[in-house]
Amino acid sequence: MSIASVHAPPIRSIGAPRLLAGVVGNSVVGLVEHRGLHVRHATPGRDRLTADVRAVRLLGRGGAEFPVALKLEALPAGGAEVVIVNGSEGEPLSHKDRSLMRHVPHLVLDGALATAAALGARRVVVAADDEESLCALGSAVAERAANGGDHLTIEVARGGGRFVTGEARALGNMVGGGTAAPPGRRVHLTECGVGARPTFLANVETFAQLGLLTAIGPFDFATTGTSEEPGTSLITVTGAVARPGVIEVPNGVPLPVLLGHVGAAGGAILVGGYHGAWIDDPAQVLLNRPGLHCAGGRFGAGSVTVLDDASCPVGEIARVARWLADESMRQCGPCMFGLGGLADDLAALAAGDGRRVQHLHHLLQITPGRGACAHPDGAVGFLRSSLRCFGSDVDRHLHQGGCGRPVLGLLPITGASSTVSSTARAVRPGVSS
Ligand code: SF4
Repeated sequence: MSIASVHAPPIRSIGAPRLLAGVVGNSVVGLVEHRGLHVRHATPGRDRLTADVRAVRLLGRGGAEFPVALKLEALPAGGAEVVIVNGSEGEPLSHKDRSLMRHVPHLVLDGALATAAALGARRVVVAADDEESLCALGSAVAERAANGGDHLTIEVARGGGRFVTGEARALGNMVGGGTAAPPGRRVHLTECGVGARPTFLANVETFAQLGLLTAIGPFDFATTGTSEEPGTSLITVTGAVARPGVIEVPNGVPLPVLLGHVGAAGGAILVGGYHGAWIDDPAQVLLNRPGLHCAGGRFGAGSVTVLDDASCPVGEIARVARWLADESMRQCGPCMFGLGGLADDLAALAAGDGRRVQHLHHLLQITPGRGACAHPDGAVGFLRSSLRCFGSDVDRHLHQGGCGRPVLGLLPITGASSTVSSTARAVRPGVSS
């Protein structure tokens, strides 16, 4: 099955579902059912919430994996003025946040409201890019209002619709009335966020985890997963697998167990999306964030993608490189020159022209660590990993002019960069981005 054809993958779990409890098929867990599943307790104060989050070692689920307790502690004594739920999910290989917003919106909203109460926030904004999630969130907010309402009115906002517009400070700018772009310098939202006021922003899954934690407490939260990382995670599995889906797994589940669950027959395995890495030895990998770091990978956006050998991997990577360059805001040198140059060099290599390969490696050296956000660093990490994983294919492009396979566009991208050749489409009908 192609990766791109799995636009809204089915939902299921390995072990008992927690975040996705109550979801059957394509159902939405309404407020009454949600209240039956997740008992509502008195809102914890800031110290209690921080202590509980620290006890379960909760890491942010948007890709940066920043400890949530540290983010709470970074706020000033007065707490936060605004709480933002980031549902942008611009990563083409991830669908988990949309699944949460569409199927269990009240769990996400519970987490946001509990956090807002603990931090004394006056605004809660939930931002999403896609119509279906915006509708589901709007319906959930209306349902709550009709059932007595909450201590704050939740605002539902449309995000910027691109990969980098979901970056934390880009979204903070947008919620503050500005453009959905990172500010061009590294500032912390916890100090200077919306309206220059302290702001707490986290990913949709992070808030769902906070909603669960406030409902069941740290002891029950830690009854699954590992001691290093208790609890569960959502993983979007796509590509050359028989049963793709958004799957809730206990943290620490072996990667081969997940691959067996989805019916993966073989191929290269990318974990963490287009800021992630290809895994050299899947048999040894445990799917939790510390385990993946040991294997040279990143949990990132929570995706596992299997690429079989039907398509030219160098051409696939070149397409993604162009997309990563096009998705940047082009306001910093590493994105204007580094990512664009890398995309040009990889396109030449994919076409069998190896004359730019030294320039390619030079750009891989000098591009990271110099942007105003982490986009060029994440992109370069993915490209380095790609060149390592597909080293023999790269050699064939360097020395034999190519590998003889078409570029099918199996790795999905969005927008103008997504075009694949008509030849490729003819080879594998139905593959699109
Ligand atoms: S590093 Fe790139 S994506 Fe990040 S702010 Fe600068 S131009 Fe934009």
